[in-house]
Amino acid sequence: MTVVEKAKTIANAWLAGKKRIVFTGAGISTESGIPDFRSKGGLWERFQPIYFDEFMSSREARVEYWKRKATLYPNLVSAKPNPAHFAISKLYEMGLVDAVVTQNIDGLHQLSGIPDEKVIELHGNTLRVRCMSCDALESIHDVQIRIENGDEAPECHCGGYLKPDTISFGQAMPMEETDKAVNLCCACDFLLVIGSTLLVQPASLLPGYAKRNGAYLAMINLSETPYDRECDVKISEKAGAVMDEVVWQIQQLID
Ligand code: NAD
Repeated sequence: MTVVEKAKTIANAWLAGKKRIVFTGAGISTESGIPDFRSKGGLWERFQPIYFDEFMSSREARVEYWKRKATLYPNLVSAKPNPAHFAISKLYEMGLVDAVVTQNIDGLHQLSGIPDEKVIELHGNTLRVRCMSCDALESIHDVQIRIENGDEAPECHCGGYLKPDTISFGQAMPMEETDKAVNLCCACDFLLVIGSTLLVQPASLLPGYAKRNGAYLAMINLSETPYDRECDVKISEKAGAVMDEVVWQIQQLID
């Protein structure tokens, strides 16, 4: 099948669905200029992850962590949603998306117009900073100013360590968001996965839950994933152009 034929197949399944969920990973944001983790040129070629325990137990690790964040900061705050994000928000406006579950921490789905409560962020949001002791929240912009003024490992007024409100390796997953994502995928009848290698839990389990409920599973991802055989359709092309085509096909079917 050609890409257009596959996009049409996805459009048909989307309209046939009643509970439609979109699951996104770092790959949807590469066209916004934010590198993913595992692709060539991805963040893992530049940085080894800093585990949560290291962050909490070593000032040196916190300094290194914040130094990396400061390097990535200009890119993250200037990133804009790309055609794939806007395609999903258009379909949301049309009443065709129940929720977006994302591994991303960049807030681009919300910036594209999807309400906060409809975006389930499994790994938090890097535009917020949280105190690891009292849970107080601050904006990344305020903390960035402190870093630029020489504070290498910023702390809260209570003395707790400040950390971007994202889930590090070795840190517990947020219970509420994880439960919501699992429940949505267990109950959906259409799941579209965009831009994830589906290698880490719970992402690696969600398509399986949807399939077990009889859902149609569509995937748009450049590289291979463990669900390539099990899915109903896979398009291995860039998400922006493919999602534009999917929206166009849906509009043709509705008109
Ligand atoms: P990943 O890096 O493991 O995989 C990304 C996948 O997207 C790859 O399979 C790649 O081939 C594919 N891809 C890249 N560009 C694409 C495009 N234009 N169209 C279609 N597919 C494309 O990503 P993951 O599975 O989400 O895991 C990475 C983890 O890192 C996540 O937990 C996330 O929290 C974090 N992360 C987030 C961001 C972000 O918020 N934008 C960026 C980097 C990493």
